[in-house]
Amino acid sequence: MMMSVVTHRPWQTIELGKRLGHLLEKGDVVALVGELGAGKTTLTTGIAAGLGVKDYVRSPTFTLINEYQGRIPLYHFDLYRLSCLTDLEELGYQEYFYGEGATIIEWAQKCKELLPQNHLRIEIEVVDKESRQINIFLPEDRNRWAFAHPTG
Ligand code: ADP
Ligand code: MG
Repeated sequence: MMMSVVTHRPWQTIELGKRLGHLLEKGDVVALVGELGAGKTTLTTGIAAGLGVKDYVRSPTFTLINEYQGRIPLYHFDLYRLSCLTDLEELGYQEYFYGEGATIIEWAQKCKELLPQNHLRIEIEVVDKESRQINIFLPEDRNRWAFAHPTG
């Protein structure tokens, strides 16, 4: 099942992220897909806030991963600079994906093979300068995620 939301300002993307962040549970993996400047980090900021993270969230572009503490830990990956899957294996990605917290991955298309089957895939498309179409592909336990819809 897929649901689509169009946001017209960055704060609306952050609000959507907050709703998702409230719902995240241990072992959830959120795969973010979208071009540079689409809003992956902006959405992540909202998700982190919804999860109760107080720290400033920014892309771990050089470190590949940042870890934040909220209601549960949040592991934030950015695979932009990742050249091969070996990097992820060296990072010990399983410890994160299947660990005590929730995981968000920017440029997740680079690690498709490694994603758990029930991951939440979010594609962000640029509509115009301040509008984004956000397509959320819900995993099987969709009842939990259905509440994420802004109108729901
Ligand atoms: P990414 O992580 O995908 O490269 P960022 O979140 O870092 O993207 O940057 C998105 C940029 O687009 C920011 O400068 C943000 O202010 C801008 N923007 C404009 N409109 C929106 C919107 N509706 N949702 C998210 N970001 C938006
Ligand atoms: Mg980013």
